[in-house]
Amino acid sequence: MKRAIIRSGLEALYFSGAHRLMEPFVGGVGAILVLHHVRPARSDGFQPNRLLEITPTFLEAVIARLKAKDVDFVTLDEVRRRLQEQDFRRRFVTFTFDDGYRDNKEWAYPILKRHGIPFAIYVPTSFPDRLGELWWAALEAVVARNASIALTMNGRDCRIESGTRGEKFAAFELLYRWLRGMPSDHDMLDAVRDLTTRYGVDVGAICDELCMSWEELSEIAADPLVTIGAHTVNHVMLAKACDTVARSELRMGRAVLEAALGRTPHHLAYPYGDATAAGPREFAIAAELGFRTAVTTRPGVLFPEHGTTLTALPRISINGEFQRERYIDVLLSGAGTALWNGLRRLRVA
Ligand SMILES: [Zn+2]
Repeated sequence: MKRAIIRSGLEALYFSGAHRLMEPFVGGVGAILVLHHVRPARSDGFQPNRLLEITPTFLEAVIARLKAKDVDFVTLDEVRRRLQEQDFRRRFVTFTFDDGYRDNKEWAYPILKRHGIPFAIYVPTSFPDRLGELWWAALEAVVARNASIALTMNGRDCRIESGTRGEKFAAFELLYRWLRGMPSDHDMLDAVRDLTTRYGVDVGAICDELCMSWEELSEIAADPLVTIGAHTVNHVMLAKACDTVARSELRMGRAVLEAALGRTPHHLAYPYGDATAAGPREFAIAAELGFRTAVTTRPGVLFPEHGTTLTALPRISINGEFQRERYIDVLLSGAGTALWNGLRRLRVA
């Protein structure tokens, strides 16, 4: 439902040409793009995490579109410089990838390298340490492989049907929301471990299969086009953690990357990055710890005012559900996200 509304909103903006009229007002000075997986499309009918992946072909199309718009492709350090010095002679775009997936190296890197485009990868250190629990992928596996799911939800035993494709999507949505709504990562991971143990899903194998190892990260990090950024240790919803844990996740995430890769990461992405996962306290801690920039997943383009909120920057999601070139024009015009944000430029609360 929400997907359909967003899609029709993007279509309406595109076909009405409204985004072109709005562009001078909402277009801002640049944008930070957020991507996750880049890999060829899979054929299975049940892919509830599909929004997190685009195809290599679509990445090429996005780059071609941006080149046609004559924007500068810049590093995060350059984003910071332009925002600090208020240097907005040219529009700019930065590519960022969250979580350190192996397909970034296999599929996205060769394309970006060929075009000489710099990019950043934000890595939660538990993923290359092979201790990462990619619970959203584990949940997809539980629902995909079972026709019904028994579990204890909010203290009650229940059974969720997940036989048909429609039931699987509904079951995933229900469980996803229930898990993300939990008071802490601890509660959420306990509930996921119950499910993966009961249904024989190997969470360690998922991390192994999907995420880059330290060796792979070292190889890609050696390229001057690549910035490795921090993304905590355990990919936690920081806003739900106590002060001590939030600080240590940010500090340790940076220290482990530095020890493993020999370079201090100066940029940060808050895991999940929405208002339930990162808020004013996290923005303040990141600034205090000296991160040069920190990005959320709050949707939006960059405005000159973001020079004063460098640890609370919005991003534009290149979402696998909307792989149409024309949507890119709308998103980069800022019109789509301006409507989403009620025409407010800064959303840092
Ligand atoms: Zn992440």
